[in-house]
Amino acid sequence: MTKKIILGFSLLCLLDSLILPVPLLFAHAPASLESPSLYPAFMQASRGEYEGVEDPCAETTPDYPRAHWIPAANSNYTEADRERDGNKIQYIIIHTTQGSYNGTINWFQNSSAKVSSHYIVRSRDGEITQMVQNKDIAWHAGNRDYNVHSIGIEHEGYVSDPDWYTDAMYRASAKLTRWLCDRYGIPKTRKHIIGHDQVPSSDHTDPGKHWDWKTYMRLVNQESEITMIANEPPGRVASSGHCKSN
Ligand SMILES: [Zn+2]
Repeated sequence: MTKKIILGFSLLCLLDSLILPVPLLFAHAPASLESPSLYPAFMQASRGEYEGVEDPCAETTPDYPRAHWIPAANSNYTEADRERDGNKIQYIIIHTTQGSYNGTINWFQNSSAKVSSHYIVRSRDGEITQMVQNKDIAWHAGNRDYNVHSIGIEHEGYVSDPDWYTDAMYRASAKLTRWLCDRYGIPKTRKHIIGHDQVPSSDHTDPGKHWDWKTYMRLVNQESEITMIANEPPGRVASSGHCKSN
């Protein structure tokens, strides 16, 4: 009897040593495949409103000091080395998301989207998330040549509803555009800061008639705040270390 118990115990130990690594393979398996008696619970810390949208393995930091960094899926943009590769950045293209801020971030992280933008600006407070590095080519203009030579900025809201275009969003976006223009020597004019609706062969209508270009361009050309952001610390930087680069 004692021998049987010892043998049984040894077998269980052996089984345990074989089985314990398995939960790593089944971390996302349906609950029915996970036996609570054999597998430890899979737990992850809450990340608040960014739950499920951020890659914690991101090692890149945002170009723009005031932006958060959440990378787009790498199948949604073209890796490049602007402007060292000879492709000048000549345009800032203004977009409207036609959806929510978080929904857009989620969509650009989805590898099946096949679209992206460098920056997204939130309506209520002007928070900015960068998802594609400035050196890379985001897919936002619907025109290859314009994609290659531009930076895309998405604004949370809907073309048909002016309430989404808040003062906070105009100011934050204008600061970003001014910073980009200064960095890449882009003239702060309507010839170089354009709406998606101005891109040749584009059938998009954003940002639409409710976007206040006059106010926006006035803010872009306001010189007084330029020095304020020059030495700001970088935005939220995701963890680095043991993760594979995305
Ligand atoms: Zn657009």
